[in-house]
Amino acid sequence: MAIKAEYIWIDGTEPTAKLRSKTKILDEGQEPPIWGFDGSSTNQAEGHSSDCVLRPVKVTPDPIRGGDSILVLCEVLDTDFTPHPTNTRAKTAELSEQYAGQESWFGIEQEYTFMVGSRPLGFPEGGYPAPQGGYYCGVGADEIFGREIVEKHLDNCLAAGLPISGINAEVMPGQWEFQVGPASALEVSDSLWLARWLLYRTAEDFNVSATIDPKPAKGDWNGAGCHTNFSTKAMREDYEPIIAACEALGQDDKPAEHIAVYGDGIADRLTGAHETAHYTQFSYGVSNRGASIRIPWQVEKDKKGYLEDRRPNANMDPYLVTGKIVDTVCSALEK
Ligand code: ADP
Ligand code: MN
Ligand code: MN
Ligand code: MN
Ligand code: MN
Repeated sequence: MAIKAEYIWIDGTEPTAKLRSKTKILDEGQEPPIWGFDGSSTNQAEGHSSDCVLRPVKVTPDPIRGGDSILVLCEVLDTDFTPHPTNTRAKTAELSEQYAGQESWFGIEQEYTFMVGSRPLGFPEGGYPAPQGGYYCGVGADEIFGREIVEKHLDNCLAAGLPISGINAEVMPGQWEFQVGPASALEVSDSLWLARWLLYRTAEDFNVSATIDPKPAKGDWNGAGCHTNFSTKAMREDYEPIIAACEALGQDDKPAEHIAVYGDGIADRLTGAHETAHYTQFSYGVSNRGASIRIPWQVEKDKKGYLEDRRPNANMDPYLVTGKIVDTVCSALEK
C-alpha cells in the first residue's frame, strides 16, 4: 500500500513566514526520507541555485486524509545540510540542549480570526457587529461564528496527537483561541506550527480562511496575541524563581530584545489598550492583564507555578519566542 506523506515547512516570506506543503508517496513501512523543494518560489533561494533540503523533525498521523497517511513537519537546510538562514528552529534546539537541566515548559495560547474575504467571519457586509462584550466564551448564533470549524480543527489536532490543552471563543466576533502545551520549547513549537497548518487546512474545506494577523480589524476591536506561559522546574517548585524570572525579563535591554522577536506589527497591538501593556513599558504583576507579564492568582496563592508573557503577537514564530525566553530566563536562573 502506498502511503501519502504531507511534507510541511516554514518558508521565507517577509516579514512573517508562512507554511507550505506538498505530498510525497512512500512505500508501506518506509521512514519519511530527506526531500527537497524549489526555494526560489518560497523566498528561500535564488533561481540559479534554487534547491533547499527538507529534513523531517516531527511525524504525526494525518487526520485530513486519514488511514495510514502522515504529516511530516520539516526543517529547512541548505544543500550542505547546515540550517538555512530562515531555519529558526536550529538555534532553539541548541539553547534547549544547553539548558535541558532546567526542564523548561511552555503553554502557548494561539489567538486567530476567521475571515471571509477581507471581513472577519460574523462582521456584516459593509458594517459592524454589536460592540465587544458578549462574544468571549459566548454561546448562540448571535455571538458565535465558525464553531463547526473550530470543533473540526480540535478533533483534527487531537487525532494527530498534538498536545492541545483547550479552546475558547475570543473577545471579537470570529476570533478564537487554542492552547498548546505545556511541553518543551521544541515540542510546543513544532506542535503549534502543525496546529496552525491544520487550522488553515480544516477551514479551507469550509471556504473560510484563518489568519494570525495581530490586528485583523482596525478600530476598537481586540488584536490577536499568543500569550506564552513559561516555567522551569525551579519555578514549578518555588515562588522566588518566578520573581527572579520576571526581573530577568525586565533587565536592561531585554524588553526591547524580546519585543523585536515577538512578531511583526507588535507596536500596533501593544498600545496599552485592549488588555495589553504598551510595548515600551515593561511591567509584571499578579492577575494583571494590563502588564507585560502576568503571574496568575493561583500561582501567587500556591507560591509556585508559571508566568504568562502576554506580549507575543499571534503571528509570532514560536521557535524565536521560546528560544528567547529560555536564553534570558534560564541563563539568569543558572546564576
Ligand atoms: P488564560 O487564563 O491566560 O486564558 P489559558 O488557559 O488559555 O490561560 O492558557 C494557559 C496555558 O498555560 C495552557 O496552555 C496551559 O497548558 C499552560 N500551562 C499550565 N501550567 C503551566 C506550566 N507550569 N508551565 C508552562 N505552561 C503552563
Ligand atoms: Mn516542479
Ligand atoms: Mn487563554
Ligand atoms: Mn486569549
Ligand atoms: Mn492568556
